[in-house]
Amino acid sequence: MASQVNGHSSGSGAQGGESLREDLQEFLSGEAPLHQLDDLTKVNPVTLETVLRCLQARYAADTFYTNAGCTLVALNPFKPVPQLYSPALMREYHAAPQPQKLKPHIFTVGEQTYRNVKSLIEPVNQSIIVSGESGAGKTWTSRCLMKFYAVVAASPTSQESYKIAERIEQRILNSNPVMEAFGNACTLRNNNSSRFGKFIQLQLNRAQQMTGAAVQTYLLEKTRVACQASSERNFHIFYQICKGASMDERLQWHLPEGAAFFWLPNPERTLEEDCFEVTREAMLHLGIDTPAQNNIFQVLAGLLHLGNVRFAHSEDEAQPCHLTGDAQCSLKTSALLLQLPEDPLLETLRIRTIRAGRQQQVFQKPCSQAECDTRRDCVAKLVYARLFDWLVSVINSSICADPASWTTFIGLLDVYGFESFPNNSLEQLCINYANEKLQQHFVAHYLRAQQEEYAVEGLEWSFVNYQDNQTCLDLIEGSPISICSLINEECRLNRPSSAAQLQTRIESALAGSPRLGHNKLSREPSFVVLHYAGPVQYHTAGLVEKNKDPVPPELTRLLQQSQDPLLKVLFPADPEEKAQEEPSGQSRAPVLTVVSKFKASLEQLLQVLHCTTPHYIRCIKPNSQGQAHSFLQEEVLSQLEACGLVETIHISAAGFPIRIPHWNFVERYEVLRRICARTSSGPHSPSPAEGHSERSPCTEAATLQAVLQDILHTLPALTQAAATLG
Ligand code: ADP
Ligand code: MG
Repeated sequence: MASQVNGHSSGSGAQGGESLREDLQEFLSGEAPLHQLDDLTKVNPVTLETVLRCLQARYAADTFYTNAGCTLVALNPFKPVPQLYSPALMREYHAAPQPQKLKPHIFTVGEQTYRNVKSLIEPVNQSIIVSGESGAGKTWTSRCLMKFYAVVAASPTSQESYKIAERIEQRILNSNPVMEAFGNACTLRNNNSSRFGKFIQLQLNRAQQMTGAAVQTYLLEKTRVACQASSERNFHIFYQICKGASMDERLQWHLPEGAAFFWLPNPERTLEEDCFEVTREAMLHLGIDTPAQNNIFQVLAGLLHLGNVRFAHSEDEAQPCHLTGDAQCSLKTSALLLQLPEDPLLETLRIRTIRAGRQQQVFQKPCSQAECDTRRDCVAKLVYARLFDWLVSVINSSICADPASWTTFIGLLDVYGFESFPNNSLEQLCINYANEKLQQHFVAHYLRAQQEEYAVEGLEWSFVNYQDNQTCLDLIEGSPISICSLINEECRLNRPSSAAQLQTRIESALAGSPRLGHNKLSREPSFVVLHYAGPVQYHTAGLVEKNKDPVPPELTRLLQQSQDPLLKVLFPADPEEKAQEEPSGQSRAPVLTVVSKFKASLEQLLQVLHCTTPHYIRCIKPNSQGQAHSFLQEEVLSQLEACGLVETIHISAAGFPIRIPHWNFVERYEVLRRICARTSSGPHSPSPAEGHSERSPCTEAATLQAVLQDILHTLPALTQAAATLG
């Protein structure tokens, strides 16, 4: 039978008896030493409360990792625990004959995946899906796992190959500070919050050495570049430049000390992430040399100055908005840094080009102040998003191995967890949609794997049907009609429609869905989706516009005029695009909406995951203040609900939650077997000596099943006897 860490040592017969007495006492008093339970499937009964109590007890005992059947629960310590991540400990897990017998740890998962890909008979690609809400420790976990693989997957023999291996591992590790500088920001929930999803594929050769990696990112929150919630910050890189630039660089990028920028809120807050030197060094390792770096920082400084370009209504509506205060100066500096002609920049920001009529005549219309702001923000978002994608492609070309040099991979997925805020919009819809997909993948994979194991062991097993979230996915992405299709339809028709109309359309077209809830609380137009992790109310205002994510073509054309080498790469002149925009030939290309792009990348990701053996790590944040030694039950409870952990444990527990080798089991419960034999004439159970003998897995499992049944039958009598004894 599959052996799994038991949490207790089996010991000799006498110790076995002692252990049994303890087990019985615990069982009867209901007071198991919770912090010792390495696996949540062992809490009895499995409820939110018992799971919560167990995690709390373990947290108090500085035990941060706990198994939950097939999942590893990781509690964020919110304090440095260096001994938990030392290379020595990594090697210990790597060298252990059975790492799962050691304390639960992310290294157990890391080592398990590493051994699985190592299988000479049938190497299988592996994936580790790390989930949890913002600040729970996903990025930390994936970073530690990358370090783990860099240590264990680097054992080259020759001096020369050692150097190569070191280079590639170092480069892979260096991708982290770069991606975090450009893609992470300080939010209310996490000082170093990743504002994008990431899947990194660590590529291994036949000798199990890491030869390269490939990164795929999802849904960067580009709006942050031009709009930050109060008390939050822009992406770290902007602060790093402003704080870390040398005197010369400050002059070059027009960033005098203490300069104020609208898009640089809360600059006084210094974080450990504000380390410009670390980012520069990492970029250098990835092949982005100093001139190329300077070019990037100059463009980013140009964006900061663009953010200071402010507009005011003109008295005469027929006239374009004018610039306020120092905005003219900011515009000049921004144009200089972005290498754009100043006048066309201003004109493009405040005058709209409209094509109308059969002949597609071109009209120019001054924009309102709000429209000017939107266009300015749009330029920044466009530049930043392309810069980020370009960086990812540079990182990939630096760390990606020649396809012929690797045979298997381990994928690490660091995705945003399920989100439910007072105001949820398209971002949350996409994130929660991704979580539904991953949950479905999890349930399908886990139940299948479990059934296969039972079939091999010849166990009687009636399949338990668990909550299938297909109906929810049908509601979100199904065909022919779903929430996604309806929002996309609105974008395609390009008709003016109010938030209330969209709500009515969704509610009437999808009324039959069991997963469409009722909006009872909010007066705002919205609809409710009953997700597996709980109901979420999505506001419909602005949803269609966000899904369109429109970029006025004249803005792209403007950026194509830049003389800056980096912007020339990011915005190459595109003859096809020009042809499409000819007055005679209106663009007929299908609208590629945010939702459809996200759906396509999600499907691609799931295809990759389907070809792997998945492993799951659920990160939990014990409190939202980021404080050590603080476990707030309410907050943890909502996360346990949101990640469906109890359901996961039930799935595990509905099978056989505890997996003990046959001989070990018999040895430990020998005393009980004897009691059983006296109170019932059950089937023959083996003695410890017999337990060691060779037997087929089928007989072994069937005998265990019989013994377990005996024990279960006898338990009420035992409980009664104990009660009588007082
Ligand atoms: P997420 O990616 O889930 O949003 P992070 O991985 O960025 O969260 O973690 C948030 C913060 O929590 C980190 O910056 C770090 O300070 C702390 N943290 C997370 N995991 C650990 C850990 N295992 N040990 C110590 N601190 C941690
Ligand atoms: Mg993160």
